[in-house]
Amino acid sequence: MKERLLERLLEVANKPFEALKDLRAKKKVIGSTLADVPEELIHAAGLHPFLILGTNEPIRVSAALMPDNCCSLARSNLELVLAYQPDFFDGFVLSQVCDTTQHLCDIWKRRFQDRYFENFLAPRQVSRPSARQWVAVEMRRLRESLGRYAGRAITDDDLRRSIRLFNENRALLRRLYDVKRRAPGLFSNREFFDVVKAAFFMDRSEHTELLKPLVQWAEGEAEKGAADGHFPAVVAGIVVEPPQIYDLLDEVGANVVADNLPTASRYIYYDVSEEGDPIEAMAERHVSRPNFSPINDQVERIYTDLIELYREYAAQAIFYIHIKYCESQDYDLPDIKRKMREEGIPMLVVETEYQSTHLALMKTRIEAFCEAVLGRV
Ligand code: SF4
Repeated sequence: MKERLLERLLEVANKPFEALKDLRAKKKVIGSTLADVPEELIHAAGLHPFLILGTNEPIRVSAALMPDNCCSLARSNLELVLAYQPDFFDGFVLSQVCDTTQHLCDIWKRRFQDRYFENFLAPRQVSRPSARQWVAVEMRRLRESLGRYAGRAITDDDLRRSIRLFNENRALLRRLYDVKRRAPGLFSNREFFDVVKAAFFMDRSEHTELLKPLVQWAEGEAEKGAADGHFPAVVAGIVVEPPQIYDLLDEVGANVVADNLPTASRYIYYDVSEEGDPIEAMAERHVSRPNFSPINDQVERIYTDLIELYREYAAQAIFYIHIKYCESQDYDLPDIKRKMREEGIPMLVVETEYQSTHLALMKTRIEAFCEAVLGRV
């Protein structure tokens, strides 16, 4: 039963370009990059939002366009669209969250002069009084721009319909996450996060329709999948790539019960209000999200939020996924490590790259941590 319910979702998560090869015949595809691009706006314009999450394939082209010390997320995003999927996207909305993405946007825009292109300029310090107003102005600018490209104005009703659909989708994902926490025997970490990942690629109505019977089945079976042999863990970072890292966590019996990933909780826990002006509601959602590495208000929240998650979900360990050369994480990590040491919280920093071929080494480190620090054999 589970295999049948998951089949299409896992296919899309793992081979999105093959699984969705007919997509462009139905709608124009607008690629966006992390984090927080308001995909409801793209959807409301009658376009298909598709989150570009890089490629684990070898880098052939983008190395010549970006410095060597650039993170592999940015580099492999550019590689994906230049070398592997040059014809898949009709346009792009790129989020500017750090110096790397700022320069990436400039390179991207020059390379794709034949496509639709917009930056999404999100404020980096969200607690400033001007931040919310700025986001609303930026959303309105994007709404106008997408409407011009789509050839029709995006009405408030269009936007409300999209907001409702995306909220419904997120609510189902939250229910599934809740079951997974209580019943890790039902889903592996890899399966659950692949289901979330599929949402970033496929038609959201289709994803929602696939989720409904899956959630219903999972809630009915929750009692059978109790936490036997698993230990609760928090995953922190930006993305978990390559996705085999989740398999490694599965192998040591970690049950991810909480995370602060833009590709998971930061996305699924923050709905847009369906009341009032939809743009104002989206701006409100934007500034109410918690910190993530390059976007924050009080700098200490980069570790206090993590400690809260660890305690709230009674976790036994934190796995911090560090993308090599992520300038933002590089600055956070010394403070996070010090604080976790002071608090006596077991944390393993797993350094990774999209093109990493060191899974065996990673496996040894994760197993050694579980054995030596958590006392699991
Ligand atoms: S925040 Fe880090 S991982 Fe994301 S694009 Fe910037 S440097 Fe790369």
